[in-house]
Amino acid sequence: MGGLGSRARPARLIPAATLAAALATATSASAAVEHADGGSPWPLIATGGLVVAVAAVAIILLTRVFGASLRSMSLRNESERLKSEVALARAEARFRTVFEGAPLGIAVVDVDGTLKETNAAFDLMLGYERRELVGKTMTELSDESDRERTLEAFGALVRGEVSSYEHEMRYKRKNGSTLWGDVSVTYVPEDDEPFAIAVIDDVSDRIVIRDRLIHEATHDALTSLPNRGLFSAQLGDALRSRLPGLAVAFVDLDHFKVVNDSLGHLAGDALLRAVAQRLRSIMRPGEMVARLGGDEFGVIFLDEDIEARVEWLHATVAEPANIEGRRLYTTASVGVAVAHARYERAEDLLRDADIALYRSKADGRATYTIFNEVMHDSAVRRLQISSDVRDAINAPDQFRVAFQPLVRLSDWKTVGYEALVRWQHPREGLIQPDLFIPAAEETGVIIRLGREVLVRSLERLAREQRDDPTITMHVNVSVQEIMHGDLPEHVFAAIKATGVRPESVTLEITENAIIDTSTGAGAVLERLRAGGVRICVDDFGIGYSSLRYLSLFPINSLKIDRSFVSGTGEGIESEPICRMLLDLARSLELTVVAEGIETPEQADRLLALGATTGQGYIFSRPIIPERDGPIVLPDILLKGRPVGVSA
Ligand code: C2E
Ligand code: CA
Ligand code: CA
Repeated sequence: MGGLGSRARPARLIPAATLAAALATATSASAAVEHADGGSPWPLIATGGLVVAVAAVAIILLTRVFGASLRSMSLRNESERLKSEVALARAEARFRTVFEGAPLGIAVVDVDGTLKETNAAFDLMLGYERRELVGKTMTELSDESDRERTLEAFGALVRGEVSSYEHEMRYKRKNGSTLWGDVSVTYVPEDDEPFAIAVIDDVSDRIVIRDRLIHEATHDALTSLPNRGLFSAQLGDALRSRLPGLAVAFVDLDHFKVVNDSLGHLAGDALLRAVAQRLRSIMRPGEMVARLGGDEFGVIFLDEDIEARVEWLHATVAEPANIEGRRLYTTASVGVAVAHARYERAEDLLRDADIALYRSKADGRATYTIFNEVMHDSAVRRLQISSDVRDAINAPDQFRVAFQPLVRLSDWKTVGYEALVRWQHPREGLIQPDLFIPAAEETGVIIRLGREVLVRSLERLAREQRDDPTITMHVNVSVQEIMHGDLPEHVFAAIKATGVRPESVTLEITENAIIDTSTGAGAVLERLRAGGVRICVDDFGIGYSSLRYLSLFPINSLKIDRSFVSGTGEGIESEPICRMLLDLARSLELTVVAEGIETPEQADRLLALGATTGQGYIFSRPIIPERDGPIVLPDILLKGRPVGVSA
C-alpha cells in the first residue's frame, strides 16, 4: 500500500490544494469589501466560517474521488482499510456539516454552468429547494440584466483565460425578488472532472442602503426628481458624447410665490409635485427632468424638433392642476439652448439657456425662448452698459426723467405721475432702466442717481402743482438707498427746497426691500411716514412677502405688478390673482394702483374689482418733457373716460 499510497496521495492532493487556493481567491471579494484596507494576505482568515466551508467542499470532492479509488485498490491489511474508511467517513460527515452550515452560499458548478451541489445558505438565499436548484444553471438564476455578463465571465473562466472572477450580481429568487450578491467564481482545472466553485455573499441590504444614499444625494426630496448635481453631470456626459438633438431647457414657474403665500406651503409643494410629475411624463428615453431649486426645473432634451417639444412642455405645464380641491392655473417661463459643436462645456450651454430664460421673463413671462446669437450679443451689451454706468454718474446730464401719468379709473383724470429714469448713452442712444438700474444697484451708483432723480421729480411736481395742487409724484427707491440710512434727510431736504407738500410725495419700494430685515427698512419708513411722505409697495405679488407681514409696516398703497394685468388678451391676464390682491388690500385698508393697463377692458375690469388708480400704455407711455416745458398728455387723457365703456 505504501507504494501505491505514496504515489496516490500526492497525485490526489494536488487538486485538493488547488481547490483550497481557488476558494481562497473566490472569497477574497467578499473579504475585501469588509476589509477595505486589503491588508489580509489570506482573505480566508477574514471570513472564518468560510475556511471551514472551503475545506468542506475540498474534502467532499476529495473523499468522493478517494472513496472510489480506495475501493478499487486491493489492500493487504483489512483492518487498516476499515480504519481508513471509518476515518474518511467521519471526516466527510464532519465537513458536510460545516459546508452545510457555512454562512455564505456555496455551489459546485459544472463546466457548462450547471449546479452540482449547493449548501443550505445558497438554497435559502435563492428561496429554492435543493432538488430544484441542482441541475439549474448559474445563468438561469441570474437576473436578466446580468445574464450576458455571467455568460461572458463564465466562458472566459472555462476557456482558461482567467482562473477566477468576482463581481456584484443580481439573481432572481424563486419568488421573483432580487438578490444582490458579491459572487466569486473559481475554476478548478482537475484533469478528468474540472469544475468551478461559486461563493455568494448576500449583500442585498447593503445595496439597498447604498442605493438609497445615492438616491438621496442626487435627488430632490419633494419631487423625487434628480437634483442640480445629477442634472449637470448628465448634461456633461451628453455633451461629451455629442448626442444628437441635445438641448437644455430652464423652466421657471410664473408667480409661484403667490400660490405659496395665498394658499400656503402645502399647496405650493403639491403644485411643485404636480408640475414635476407632468414634466416627467413627457420625457423620452435618455432625457432628464430635474428640480434645480425653488420653482425652477431643468430639462435635457434629445430631440431634433426641439421647438415642438418645448411647445408641448409649455402647454403641459399650463394645464390646470387640482390642488387641495382647487383648480390652479400656472404658467412657466422657459429658456432653451440647443447644443452644437461650439459648445464644449455644460456651463456654457446652461448660461445660454439662462439668457434665453431671462428673455422669456422680460417678455412678460408665460412664454419660451430658444437662445440665439443675437441674445448672446445683447447679453454682452448688457455687460458693457453695466460698466459704463459707473462713469455716467459723473455726467448726470446724460440721465433724463420720464413721467408716466397715474389715472383715476372712475373718470380717467390724471392724478399724479411716476418718475422713471432713462439714460441718454453717448453711443447707444436712449437706454431703458431695466438695462442699467441693476448695474447701478450693484455698484452703489444708484444712491447718487436716486438723489438726482428725486430732486428733478420734486422740481417737476412743484411745477405741475402750480396748475393742479392735488397732483402727486411717485418716485422709485432701491433697497440700497434705504440701507444707506440718510434717505429721509435727502427726501425732506428736496421737499423743503421745492416747497411741495410731503403728502403729495410717494416713494415706491419693492416688497423684497421691505421684507429683508437686513435693510432696516422699518425704521427708515417710520421716519419718512412721520414726516408725511407716503409709501407704496411696488411690483406687488411677485416678491416674497406675505400680506400679513406687510401689515406690520407703515404702508399707504400697493401697486399690482403689471404681469398680472396685461398679457396676450384684452382682459386681465390673471383675474383670480388681481381679485385676491385687491381683496386683501381692502382688508388692510390700503389703496391699490394697477400698473401695465393696456386695454380699456382691463381698466374697467380692474375698476370693478376695486382698484382706484391705474397706469399703463392705454393712458400714456412715460413722457420726457422739455426741461422747462409742460408734460404734454395724450388726447385720450384730455377727454376723460369714454362713455359706453362699462365696468
Ligand atoms: P416699475 O417701477 O415697475 O415701472 C413701471 C414700468 O412699467 C416702467 O418701465 C413703465 O414704462 C412700464 N409700463 C408702464 N405702463 C406699461 C404698460 O402698459 N405695459 C407695459 N408692458 N409696461 C408698462 P421702465 O420705465 O422701463 O422702468 C423699469 C423699471 O426700472 C421700473 O419698474 C423701476 O423698477 C426701475 N426704475 C425706473 N426708474 C427708476 C428710478 O429712478 N430709480 C430706481 N431705483 N428704479 C427705477
Ligand atoms: Ca415703480
Ligand atoms: Ca411696478
